[in-house]
Amino acid sequence: MELQFKLKASFKTSADASGAKDLIGAYFDEANQGILTRGAPEGQGARIVEWGLEGDRINLTIESGKHVRAHDALLRLRKPLATKLGKDFHIGIRGIDVGSFVIRIPSEKPLGEIKIPYVNSMDYGDGVITLTLEVEEAELDNRVPDRILTLMEDKIAAQTYGGKAEHWSLLWESEKKVHRFSEDPTIEMQKRGWLKRGASRGQWIHGPQSTRLFRVFEKIVIEELLDPLGYREMIFPKLVPWDVWKKSGHAKGVYPEIYYICPPKTRDPKYWEDVIDYYKVTHEVPTAMIKEKIGDPIGGMCYAQCPPFWVYLQGETIPTNEFPLKVFDHSGTSHRYESGGIHGMERVDEFHRIEIVWAGTPNQVLSHSKELQEKYKRIFNNILELEWRKAWVTPWFMAQEGMTGLSEGKDIGTIDYEAPLPYRGEEGDWLEFQNVSVNGNKYPSGFNVKCQSGEELWSGCSGVGLERWASVFLAQKGLDPENWPNEVRERVGELPKGIRFL
Ligand code: ATP
Ligand code: ZN
Ligand code: MG
Repeated sequence: MELQFKLKASFKTSADASGAKDLIGAYFDEANQGILTRGAPEGQGARIVEWGLEGDRINLTIESGKHVRAHDALLRLRKPLATKLGKDFHIGIRGIDVGSFVIRIPSEKPLGEIKIPYVNSMDYGDGVITLTLEVEEAELDNRVPDRILTLMEDKIAAQTYGGKAEHWSLLWESEKKVHRFSEDPTIEMQKRGWLKRGASRGQWIHGPQSTRLFRVFEKIVIEELLDPLGYREMIFPKLVPWDVWKKSGHAKGVYPEIYYICPPKTRDPKYWEDVIDYYKVTHEVPTAMIKEKIGDPIGGMCYAQCPPFWVYLQGETIPTNEFPLKVFDHSGTSHRYESGGIHGMERVDEFHRIEIVWAGTPNQVLSHSKELQEKYKRIFNNILELEWRKAWVTPWFMAQEGMTGLSEGKDIGTIDYEAPLPYRGEEGDWLEFQNVSVNGNKYPSGFNVKCQSGEELWSGCSGVGLERWASVFLAQKGLDPENWPNEVRERVGELPKGIRFL
């Protein structure tokens, strides 16, 4: 079975249209052969299968497959029909009433209990999900049925891949290395007083020693990569409102992992007096009372680092010779509500990252991605002397559409950099310690950024996770600077002393 649509709707007319019956019938016949087939393979257009007049309404039933969807067919009919009725009969079309709208989608399995706006019912039988939509003209105009369909198709695809998020393929891998250290570095660092747990979930306080190492990593990235490639430093905001995530696409899925931000309803101290007094008397923070006094969440804390930067370019036309545009930010923390395994420093709720962003024509963006990859390779091979690999990762639903990126010459997607952590053993999972992504026109188009020459703009970003670099480096090299590669040891100098406790 293929995708099917069945839409019953009426055009509301300004007067009884029975005088125009022949004209309407002739027009619908013509449309079934003409505009309702436009863009579809032979015989696969939409069809008006039934119609009739009833007072000031033209009722019709449209059936279609995927090529000219029934709701598009209805919208296609409206204008030409209005023109004809207006010209010969002085009748206008006042609007559309949707009677019923049923979509049948093939699926090997039912989807389970889910609630989707404008979906009245969802039933499953014989390999088909049947949706009944409750929509009005405004929803048709706003393409709501198409969005519902895309959502359903994503859910069906996700189900087929059973929770596996990504298709993974190896791009490059270093030679195997003998690692002399086999401890979990976070535990070892705690033992040596390099860091301590912070008060919040998945948060660490880095002592002078690990802070020095983080700063050395940053220095390496700046000296070996950002400066030679002509990057300019900027400071990106770290509180991200919904509007930014709507434009970056994160609003489609970021919810389980963000830390939400709620502002006070007012900053009037009187309004907060009961909270303050409650605390003073009980020494308990009255969170239930606070909940009543704060507004809806306005967004969340920095998650992916680059989206709020794009507000700087938003709506601008940029001179062609500014491209490729190259900027970076390491001005603050990123926050994610991580699941389960947040025992070590490698997966934390608060982390530090250098975010590298470049933009330009598709060719500029792709060739710059290659330059970055060369620089990273030199850093990991010659400076940090790591065992590592890089892999092309594609979300499964894109992999299914053939967008695995390698053979097809499609270059939009992400390269993950991964390294083994010896303490996890030979079979242990490798850790993603950074990524390089080419994001296509997603950001320039989402934030409406244009190039003076009119050429299409693309962008890319790369996130250097300092906790991840440290996890990989220390897991492979241990905590004793004498076992570190020269290039690192020299940059670190003498490791600062930690704070002593009695
Ligand atoms: P993972 O699959 O390990 O959760 P991710 O795919 O969620 O990583 P990205 O969204 O690609 O990570 O983020 C880019 C970079 O940010 C990662 O390569 C990593 O260096 C860093 N990063 C992401 N989440 C964390 C975290 N919870 N703790 C420390 N660093 C992180
Ligand atoms: Zn980014
Ligand atoms: Mg993650």
